[in-house]
Amino acid sequence: MSEKSPAFEGYEAHYHVAGVCQVVRAELLTPRMRRITLHGQALAGLERHWRPEMLVRLYFPPQGHDDPPEPFINDDHVLEIRTPPGVEVSPFSAFSEDPLVRAFTGRRYRAESLELDVDFVLHEAPGLASDWVRTAKPGDRLGVVEFNLPPGHRPAAARGADTYVLFADEAALPALQTNLEAFAPETNVRAFVEVTDESEQQSIESPANVEVTWLHRGDAQPGTTGLLVSAARDLEWPQGNVFVWACCDIKAATQIRQFITKERGMQKGTFKVQAYWRRGKTEVERMARMTEVALASAENSPVAFQESFESIGMSDFDPTVFEDATG
Ligand SMILES: Cc1cc2nc3c(=O)[nH]c(=O)nc-3n(C[C@H](O)[C@H](O)[C@H](O)COP(=O)(O)OP(=O)(O)OC[C@H]3O[C@@H](n4cnc5c(N)ncnc54)[C@H](O)[C@@H]3O)c2cc1C
Repeated sequence: MSEKSPAFEGYEAHYHVAGVCQVVRAELLTPRMRRITLHGQALAGLERHWRPEMLVRLYFPPQGHDDPPEPFINDDHVLEIRTPPGVEVSPFSAFSEDPLVRAFTGRRYRAESLELDVDFVLHEAPGLASDWVRTAKPGDRLGVVEFNLPPGHRPAAARGADTYVLFADEAALPALQTNLEAFAPETNVRAFVEVTDESEQQSIESPANVEVTWLHRGDAQPGTTGLLVSAARDLEWPQGNVFVWACCDIKAATQIRQFITKERGMQKGTFKVQAYWRRGKTEVERMARMTEVALASAENSPVAFQESFESIGMSDFDPTVFEDATG
C-alpha cells in the first residue's frame, strides 16, 4: 500500500479534524453536481482552521461494507485508522494514494450545527467517490480528515496582487467559489470556469469585482477540450501584479503552467497551479505516478525533484518544503 508522498517530507502534519461523519442532507445543485452535508462531533473546532479551498480527505466504505474506515487522532496527535476486519488503509492515506481515500474541498462549514458541505461532481466514468455520492442518503457515513498543508498551498484569496486570474473546471468549482467569497472588496478577479453547459453554471457570490466567463464543453469529454488553456492564451493580460490560480484536470493544469511560466514569464510565488484529477486514471493511480516521478528525479537532482512535481501539475510548493527531503 501507499507510502507518504515525498512532497510531504520535512513537513509536520497537524491534524485538526479526524472522525466519521453522517450524511444529514443530499441535494442536487445542478444535473452533475451533488451537495452532501456531513454532520459529526469530529468536526468540532473546524471553524478555527477554516480557509478557502480547504482540503478534506474523505474515507469511503470498502465494497461490501456500510462503514468507512474510521480515522482518529490518538493521544500523541498522530492520525490512526480503525478499519473493518480484512480491510487495510495506509497510515499515510491522508497524504498519498489509497484505494479508499479521495481529496475534496470543504465548501461551507456551520459551526453551530457541526455541518460541512462538500460538492461532488457526478462524472460519467465509474469512481469510488462519484459512485458513492449518486446514491448517498441521510444516515450514510464517511471518514473525514483535515490537516494543515505546506505553505505553498495557501489559498488564492490570501496572496497580494492587483488582479487575480482564476481557472477551474467543475472539480475545482467549489474551491474557486470559496476563494471568490473570501476576496477582499474591490479586488479585481477574472475567472474562467469550464462546465458542460449552461445548466452547470452556479451563482457566484463575492465582495470582489469579479468577471466570470463560463466555457461550455458541450458534448466533448471532460479533460480533453483545452478551453481553459485557450482562455489563458486569449486573455488580454491585466496590468500590474497578477496572481494566477488554476485548478483542473492535469492536462490543462500542465499547459496553463507552461504558458504562464514560459510565455508570460511568471515566477514562483505568483501562481498556484494544481491538478485535481487525471482523465482515464483513478486518484490512486494519479498519486502513485506522482510519487514515482518525484522519487525517480529526487535520486538525480533536488531541483529536478521539485520541477518534476510542478511539471505534472502540482502546486508551486514553497521550496523550503523540499529542503529536508532533498538534503
Ligand atoms: C485539492 C483537491 C480538491 C478537490 N476538490 C473536489 C471537490 O470539491 N469536488 C469534486 O467533485 N472533486 C474534487 N477534487 C477532484 C477529485 O478528488 C477527483 O475528481 C477524484 O478523482 C474523484 O474520485 P472518484 O472516486 O470519483 O474517481 P476516481 O476513482 O479517482 O477515478 C475514476 C475515473 O473517473 C475519472 N474522473 C475523476 N474525476 C473526474 C472529474 N472531475 N471529471 C471527469 N472524470 C473524472 C478519472 O479520470 C477515472 O477515469 C479535488 C481534488 C483535489 C486534489
